Amino acid sequence: MPFFVEPWFVLGFLGLLVGSFLNVVICRLPAGESIVSPPSRCPGCGHRVRPFDNIPVISWALLRGRCRDCRGPISPRYPFVELLTGATFGVIGARFGFTPGSMFLLVFAAAMVAVVFIDLDHQIIPDVITWPGLGLGLIASFFGPPHPVGALVGALIGGGTLFAIGFAYEKVRGIEGMGGGDVKLGLMFGAFTGWQGALFTLMSASFAGALVGAVLLARKKADGRTALPFGTFLAPAAVLSLFVAPRFFQWYGGLLHR
Ligand SMILES: [Zn+2]
Repeated sequence: MPFFVEPWFVLGFLGLLVGSFLNVVICRLPAGESIVSPPSRCPGCGHRVRPFDNIPVISWALLRGRCRDCRGPISPRYPFVELLTGATFGVIGARFGFTPGSMFLLVFAAAMVAVVFIDLDHQIIPDVITWPGLGLGLIASFFGPPHPVGALVGALIGGGTLFAIGFAYEKVRGIEGMGGGDVKLGLMFGAFTGWQGALFTLMSASFAGALVGAVLLARKKADGRTALPFGTFLAPAAVLSLFVAPRFFQWYGGLLHR
């Protein structure tokens, strides 16, 4: 097969375009604005972004990260989100090919990219992502692993564990440590990843969160009451789990049975 019709290439290219759309979603969804209109404008001067200046990654590089009109800086996060989405879609294409299951995973991955940055910016995870996402994950389970029972168990483990952690934290510390958004995100990613992926996601996100928290504490950029946006850690861990969770549990089981 020539490379330009290979799943990794086609979906990687699609991912760049979807990433460009996700930049709009990340910016407008928390503000309650429409994600389809009006067309993108420069946040600095308000000039409409011309179609040829809206090519993923390339336009930003050609304009050297500046608006064509006011020369104001355009955040490198825009091309980063595009590259991240393109790379994620490409890897999904390489691993799962053009299958009905992989089409659902693309939607899941796109939603997770949006969650990473919306939670980072606003400490919220919009219901309009997680509730339909849970439904889609359950539907997707009829087209491939983790299959319907696995999806249901995964959702209960993901959402249930985060609910239990939040409940215990609130009892002990008297402050809300886990937003309801995290619980709904747990339901959603558990439906897509199944129980193994849900456990892997919870463990690796907690580990990464603790690590980042320790670094921030050490640098005095946080104190004991600083709440990290947990969705920013959970979402990439959930996508990663699609690729590594089964193997991780094989390896872990092998350690136990030696
Ligand atoms: Zn401008």
